[in-house]
Amino acid sequence: MESNLLWKSILGEIELNVNPSIYATWFKKTKLLSHSKKELIIGVPNAFAQRQLETQFQALIKQALEKNEIYCQNLIYRISSPIGQKNNNQTDRLINLSDSQPAKNRWAQNYSQGLNPRYSFDNFIPGSGNDLAYAACQAVVGNLGCKYNPLFIYGGVGIGKTHLIQATGNAIAKNNPSLRVVYVTIEQFVQEFTNAIRYKQVGDFTRCYRNVDVLIIDDIQFIANKEKTQEEFFHTFNVLHEAGKQIIISSDKHPRSIPTLEARLQSRFEMGMTIDMQVPDLETRCAILKYKAEKINLKIEPECVQFLASNISTNIRVLEGALNQLNAFCENHKILIATLQIAQGIFEKQLNSVKTSRTTAKHIIEKIANYYQIKIADLIGPKRDKDIVLPRQVAMYLMRNELNLSFPKIAKNLGRKDHTTAIHSVTKIEKQLLYSEDLKQNIRDLKEGLKFQAV
Ligand code: ADP
Ligand code: MG
Repeated sequence: MESNLLWKSILGEIELNVNPSIYATWFKKTKLLSHSKKELIIGVPNAFAQRQLETQFQALIKQALEKNEIYCQNLIYRISSPIGQKNNNQTDRLINLSDSQPAKNRWAQNYSQGLNPRYSFDNFIPGSGNDLAYAACQAVVGNLGCKYNPLFIYGGVGIGKTHLIQATGNAIAKNNPSLRVVYVTIEQFVQEFTNAIRYKQVGDFTRCYRNVDVLIIDDIQFIANKEKTQEEFFHTFNVLHEAGKQIIISSDKHPRSIPTLEARLQSRFEMGMTIDMQVPDLETRCAILKYKAEKINLKIEPECVQFLASNISTNIRVLEGALNQLNAFCENHKILIATLQIAQGIFEKQLNSVKTSRTTAKHIIEKIANYYQIKIADLIGPKRDKDIVLPRQVAMYLMRNELNLSFPKIAKNLGRKDHTTAIHSVTKIEKQLLYSEDLKQNIRDLKEGLKFQAV
């Protein structure tokens, strides 16, 4: 493989295993100067970085090299100029890799590393849709390990879950500097666990996670299909929970809807407080936009705020992106205030094309839950109450009609094992549509709503 590409791949591996500031400080400016079976020469920007890599990150680098199937005898750190030539005033530092240990005690350094100070309660705007989750997170800060344990927050993409659980971790760490507060995405947890098995360090790994005071796990849905990790996480969860340690979990789905999640984990996740976080309503989205515009010093007309917030309705990250795009446009064109007209000019085309192209089963489920004022968990759960069965049947009907999904897929999307349920439901709605004006109107409303949901 070409050196540049190879080094990119190695750096990618390292990036997964250290926190972003460590990566930016010590690894980002390194490059691969040459490699052979005998030696691998890494270019570093200065003597300080040279020393740091050698003393702190040797094992990590070795591990990343091996993952890329590079097994060389010696590792040389060379201070290099930007174009990669040797700086003659400095000496190379040579490390014999066969002497070095694998990443021992890596986890010991891990405490508090995942928290990002960018997220706080102060810069989170609460409102309809996220206020329950916001209140629960704040309650946890003052009552660690008590009634909201675990706190399980679930909801769609880009609606502020990571922001809230990070803010909670930051607030806890600030109030209790001696506590070990760990934030980790489940992907990172899986990766670390896999490495621990590979390097025979499961003991260290287990000790690290079972000794924290607060464990914050993001995006737990990715634990699906990871049997060994589920097993490990189950024990970690029990140890922490029994010791009264606070656990906070985020997910894009209700525990019961995470496929292949072991029943024992599912029931544990529901032991404390499970909160369905929704996209903030229009008013809150406008407030978020105004707040963010102020932060970046962008003057923006109220009509412009309204336009963006009403058109971009399902994802705050996308809304933020649009605001940044608008800001860049205004800066480039030396425009002092962002008006509705400018926003329309930039976004109308994008919004129209996305609106017609991206409705998904998830949108339908969200829309139905919202329209009939029921919980997504009930819609896809086992309940057979009349006021839940009809919306569920309508959801199946829309998935068939709007998305042309197969019956087994439809059944699966709604948490059903048997696809004949989906066939019956769709047929039933089709029959009812022949005589029920109310139902016809409902379905018209829903279809109309879906057009605007998919941005
Ligand atoms: P999720 O984890 O649900 O996918 P994130 O927490 O990453 O979403 O949020 C996406 C972006 O939107 C982040 O930059 C976050 O700061 C911002 N955001 C979401 N909700 C709010 C809010 N209520 N107030 C301020 N910023 C928010
Ligand atoms: Mg997230």
